[in-house]
Amino acid sequence: MPVFYECQRCTACCRWPGQVVLSEAELSRLARFKGLSEFEFIQEWTRLRADRKGLALKDKPDGTCIFLEGDNCAVQSVKPQQCRDFPNRWNFSGFEKFCKAIPREMGDEEYQTRVLATTTPPSPQ
Ligand code: SF4
Ligand code: SF4
Repeated sequence: MPVFYECQRCTACCRWPGQVVLSEAELSRLARFKGLSEFEFIQEWTRLRADRKGLALKDKPDGTCIFLEGDNCAVQSVKPQQCRDFPNRWNFSGFEKFCKAIPREMGDEEYQTRVLATTTPPSPQ
């Protein structure tokens, strides 16, 4: 039976080292959400990816994501795909040690529905 990981919003994945990469569509959506032009959004909230092939969200000086506010994501409704997809569409060996998501076994149909509901990005506005 497939296992769906139910996020508990512990925010550990917003705090560990790494980068949240942005596609062009995500960048546009985030800029609209913040009421900024894409240029302004890029200047204020992004940095070059480590491989210099695109943009990622900035980190705060302590390494947490720039959009983490307390225990909440300030852009929850338009957060990037990378954030939506963890840990059900991608994860890494041993992630369960850090992530508090609860594993639940379920039938294929329910699993597909829940993964889709979690990972589908918002429609363009
Ligand atoms: S965009 Fe939101 S969900 Fe993604 S890492 Fe930043 S705070 Fe976490
Ligand atoms: S996906 Fe895991 S690490 Fe990220 S907020 Fe949910 S429970 Fe925490």
